[in-house]
This record gives sequence, C-alpha cells and structure tokens, in this order.
Amino acid sequence: MRIATLGSGSRGNSVLVESGSTRILVDAGFSGSELSRRLAELGRRPEEIDAVVVTHEHRDHTAGIGVAARRWGWPLYMTERTAAACDDLLRGKESIEFFPAECRFRIGGLEIHAVPTCHDAADPVAVTIREPESGLLAGVATDLGRATAPVKAALAGCHFLILEANHDEIRLREAPYPWSLKQRIGGSRGHLSNQLAGELAQELMHPELGGILLAHLSQECNDPRLAKSTVGGALRKTEFRGGIGVAGQARPSAPANVSELVARAVGKEAQLSLFGSR
Ligand SMILES: [Zn+2]
Ligand SMILES: [Zn+2]
Repeated sequence: MRIATLGSGSRGNSVLVESGSTRILVDAGFSGSELSRRLAELGRRPEEIDAVVVTHEHRDHTAGIGVAARRWGWPLYMTERTAAACDDLLRGKESIEFFPAECRFRIGGLEIHAVPTCHDAADPVAVTIREPESGLLAGVATDLGRATAPVKAALAGCHFLILEANHDEIRLREAPYPWSLKQRIGGSRGHLSNQLAGELAQELMHPELGGILLAHLSQECNDPRLAKSTVGGALRKTEFRGGIGVAGQARPSAPANVSELVARAVGKEAQLSLFGSR
C-alpha cells in the first residue's frame, strides 16, 4: 500500500491511496487543474483514479469533487448529509455512492471504514483503509475536533497515520484572530493542536506503527519543525521506531510505502526521518 498527500492545509486537502491497481483519493479539495497537476507530480493521471471518499463538505476537502466527477467520471463516496451540504458543487450528473457515517465498504482492492467525528461539519467522518491481502491498515484523521472514543478505536492498530497537527496552542492564543475564531479552531469541534496530536499518537502507538505524516498544519499558527518536534517529543516517551513526516500545502508529499515503513520500524535501526522534505 502506498500513500501520499497531494497537499494538506486550509487551502486544500487530498490523499492518494494505492494498492495494486486500485487508486483512490480521500477528499479532493483542489481545483480540477490543480488535482491533475498534483497527480502528475506523483506520476499519475486523473483517469487512473477509481473513486473519491469525501470526509466532509468543507471546501478545503471538496473544491474539486464536482468538476472531477464530471470531467473524469470519478465516483464520489460520501454521506447523504455531506452531499446535501455540497449541493452547489454538484449538478446531478455525478455518480454518487452514499454511505452512512459509521460504515465499512469496499472500493476495488481496498476496504474503507468510515467513523463519525465531532468536527463542525454536517456529517464528518475519519476513514481507515485496509489492504486485505497484507492486513495493512492506514488512517486519515484530520479535521477531528477531538479524538472521540470511536475514532480512537477505529485508528487503533493503524500501520500508517495521516494525523492532524493543526496549530501550536500558544501561537493560536497569540494570533491576531477574533476570539470567536480562536475558540472555533481550538475547540472540540475544530482542529487538533500539535500537543493533542502528540497525545493521540502516544495512545495509538504500537510496535508496527511504521509512520506518521502530520497534516493540516495552519500556516499562521504552526510550522513543520514545531509540529514534528512536539509530536516527536511525545513519541520519544514510547517505543515508537517509525518515521515522522510533515505534509505540506504547496506540493505533494513523497509517497510512503507502508509495508517498507513497518519493516523498518520492527527492524533494528530507528528511522526518524524517512520522508523527504517535500
Ligand atoms: Zn480541513
Ligand atoms: Zn473541516
């Protein structure tokens, strides 16, 4: 199983997951041309994408879903309430597969598990993706609000995690935002801070956790080194031997090969920077 972000942050999110000939995106929060350009950077064409799983309607996750579904025939998988909240992006010509917020379904060679989150959207979900032949499990957990018990249960045992590390709590407190916006971002229906991401990573740590890619970083209230050092510091108190990377907004991340990451994590040498700086 291979995973890369096309980009991550408040200006667009999309994750490419591949297993054999199955290629799916989790979210498509870039314009059609930008999706095409970013897929090309990863050596893929839009026509090779089998489906998009949509986590929630916020535009940084859905900006391209309508145009991509019409242009390239990508089927969209989402809940009915999320689809209703994306009404302005859809023309009724798209192929849409509805799923309930707590549900398991299959797309090609991948098993998807959607689990509700408490983020401030109509019907938001986090997803895990399993490759049945290998048993490898990956989680996409951004826009969490807080990690609820069902979310933690779904993410337990993941071999690779894309984990929200949105802001540094002090930087958010000192940011020149209105109080209400700070409350929204830092609140239980907003986004996970670096500190909370570190606590969650500690809880989810197990010997076969091969890698964590920190994602959805705020450009104003975070920076990659701070996110990595906060979460890495929390993980140093555990036996974690996987890699930690940070997903950027401007470009795709270097693709992660999950089975290789797990093999390295259970091997002898600690690997703290397996991901490129991309
Ligand atoms: Zn978002
Ligand atoms: Zn959101």
